[in-house]
Amino acid sequence: MSQKHFKLLILGAGSGGISVAARMKSKINPTDIAIIDPSDTHYYQPLWTLAGAGVIKKEKSFKLQKDLIPKGVQWIQRSVVDIDPSQKKVSLKDGTSVGYDFLVVALGLRLAWEKIKGLDGHLGKNGICSIYEYNQVDSTSAMLNEFKGGRAIFTMPPVPIKCAGAPQKIMYLADDIFRKNGVREKSTVNFATAGKVMFGIPVFSKALDEVVKRRAIETMFQHKLTAVDAALKTATFEVTDAQGVVSENLIKFDLLHVVPPMTAPTIIINGPLSAKEGDQKGWLSVNKFSLQHTVFTDIFGIGDVTGVPNSKTGAAVRMQAPVVVKNLLDAMAGKPLSGSYNGYSSCPLITGFGKVILAEFGYDGKLMPSFPIDATKERKSMWHLKKDLLPTLYWKAMLKGRL
Ligand code: FAD
Repeated sequence: MSQKHFKLLILGAGSGGISVAARMKSKINPTDIAIIDPSDTHYYQPLWTLAGAGVIKKEKSFKLQKDLIPKGVQWIQRSVVDIDPSQKKVSLKDGTSVGYDFLVVALGLRLAWEKIKGLDGHLGKNGICSIYEYNQVDSTSAMLNEFKGGRAIFTMPPVPIKCAGAPQKIMYLADDIFRKNGVREKSTVNFATAGKVMFGIPVFSKALDEVVKRRAIETMFQHKLTAVDAALKTATFEVTDAQGVVSENLIKFDLLHVVPPMTAPTIIINGPLSAKEGDQKGWLSVNKFSLQHTVFTDIFGIGDVTGVPNSKTGAAVRMQAPVVVKNLLDAMAGKPLSGSYNGYSSCPLITGFGKVILAEFGYDGKLMPSFPIDATKERKSMWHLKKDLLPTLYWKAMLKGRL
């Protein structure tokens, strides 16, 4: 690493980091931009739901990072261990540091597997699976396809999580697989969610109520998975009743699809950039419209790490990227910020093989449909959008700064 100071430093080369780098490289000299990320692979995570059900091969979801970092932009393949906004520098795991004029934090979030007692070392075995890790996707597909009947539980932790629809999308695909394999009649399928409803936006929640009813899936609301006994095949849930009284429910399972609780990365939670109180406590403290840090005006945030009341998705990142770039350029020019993010997020809710409800919404649950059709209906066209069109747009347009 020859240069130790950059006009623009981006932390994280996931969906958000690459999108911002790709857009900024034509606005300022690319050699003034550096992006820090230790990972030599980049994942299009939305495909893990389909791969976990055996619809596509998981390898379709990844590319090498070196082929995605925009030309001219310097990639520092290291882990960030500390951010010091007063000195305008970040420290790396190898003991070096890098300075910046402007910083974009795009570190994603952390899967807090350790919050589920007894799970460590048992994912991918004893009927316990998850689509939330690339290397667990194949064992998930195998377990769903080899399921012989019994109780299959699909869990959903408290929000915020990335893609709040994915925990139930995989369940609907699983339900179809069980039916195809003739084991559904001797099975109970449970959706055990920490939430009180199927989905945070009422019209889509209502549509999903119909889907679970049609599929005879038994819902268990306000059930938060806290522990697993892999040998006994039992799952412990913390249950909150209507009066707020908390109790424990121990359930035997034959198949358990686990979605872990999620937090901001530890360096954000413990560092000076997180919100110290309120609903977004622990997440990167940014203005929900400008995405500028609430204290340090030379810092912006994008993606899952940001503490904004939206739904954490790649679709949200797509709408945030042009706003961050606009505001970065304004800030660099000393002008008032002109970009504003409206909270847009989208979740293609897979409700079975060949069926998707395309949920699109912004801040305060405002519906933001892209197409002039009834968005609450299950559609084959949206299945193709999710499976075929969106991945292509991601690799070829969004990561190139064209979408
Ligand atoms: P990421 O893309 O996760 O990137 C974060 C980057 O930061 C990574 O490259 C990581 O290596 C890097 N990093 C982390 N720590 C450090 C460090 N200390 N130093 C340097 N670099 C670091 N979204 C949708 O829009 N639609 C969907 O249907 C959908 N389905 C999903 C299904 C599943 C199963 C999952 C897991 C996700 C899904 N998502 C979906 C969500 C979507 O993938 C994320 O919201 C999106 O990737 C967020 O982008 P990001 O840049 O914030 O984080």
